[in-house]
Amino acid sequence: EDTVARIAAGEVVERPASAVKELVENSLDADADSVDVTVEEGGTELIRVADDGRGMGEADVRAAVREHTTSKIEGLEDLESGVATLGFRGEALHTIGSVSRVTIESRPRDADETGAGTKLTYEGGEVTGVEPTGCPEGTIVEVEDLFYNTPARRKFLKTTATEFAHVNRVVTRYALANPDVAVSLTHDDREVFATTGQGDLQAAVMAVYGREVASAMIPVEADGDDLPPGPLESVSGLVSHPETNRSSPEYLATYVNGRAVTADAVREGIMGAYGAQLGGDRYPFVTLFLEVPGEAVDVNVHPRKREVRFDDDDSVRRQVDAAVESALLEHGL
Ligand code: ADP
Ligand code: MG
Repeated sequence: EDTVARIAAGEVVERPASAVKELVENSLDADADSVDVTVEEGGTELIRVADDGRGMGEADVRAAVREHTTSKIEGLEDLESGVATLGFRGEALHTIGSVSRVTIESRPRDADETGAGTKLTYEGGEVTGVEPTGCPEGTIVEVEDLFYNTPARRKFLKTTATEFAHVNRVVTRYALANPDVAVSLTHDDREVFATTGQGDLQAAVMAVYGREVASAMIPVEADGDDLPPGPLESVSGLVSHPETNRSSPEYLATYVNGRAVTADAVREGIMGAYGAQLGGDRYPFVTLFLEVPGEAVDVNVHPRKREVRFDDDDSVRRQVDAAVESALLEHGL
């Protein structure tokens, strides 16, 4: 029906990073304490996401790859009022599995006998095998040969370096948003970063961006009367000293109600606060969390890119600008 159609239309796997995003979200939704992401050749050959979340029994593993199957949605209202879980379309595994070879190994947390896990293989949209297996509690999803059966899509993939950069950005965003989860990323047998899952945002920034960036971060903490009038209830996180900058906007990690999204108003507010302190085409390192009532934000602008818009973009821009500017001012900047 309508909900399903709208949901399905928004779900497209564009590149390895889109698959990584969906798999990591599923792991976080499953309440994992650790999420380990391994990719080969920028994710085009292999994506493996292993978590220690609640896992699935055999029936759930089978259901997980079925079309329109989700354990997370009631109806379209849930989408608009801002859902608590990250996944909300019930399409990801099915869609990814229709353009790759997927293996899922999962074992529910409460199963204690050996062989209590299930291994399911899924290829080009068909279940090709289900068997019991011994595996740790949690879930391991492997996606091999993405777009092997859609050469036109495969042709649009960029270089390994570019595809990996997209994957890195996605995993980085979730690592920063979840300092209480140990998130690691490995590319072609090289560990790119690993957070401990035991630290705060500063510790996660250190693990991801390194000591130099982490030590140049300035805390932002504004709510209530600290903010000019507008829909945002609070703005918090870390922003970098203007001298610690990069020439790419990918270091702007912004979150609305805990979800990694981009919004023009937010980006403009941040850049406005720095003003001329950033040279030319430079961007700061930013990890900024915005809280806003669900009704003030439109999450359906571009579901794939995770772009959002606000009913009152102008006020949001002013609020973000003010929050970041006062943090910089406190540091004499
Ligand atoms: P959605 O996340 O939108 O519900 P998905 O296709 O991503 O849809 O996943 C389908 C279902 O499979 C989820 O609702 C969840 O019940 C189950 N699932 C997927 N990945 C995991 C995981 N890593 N751990 C536990 N359950 C999972
Ligand atoms: Mg999902």
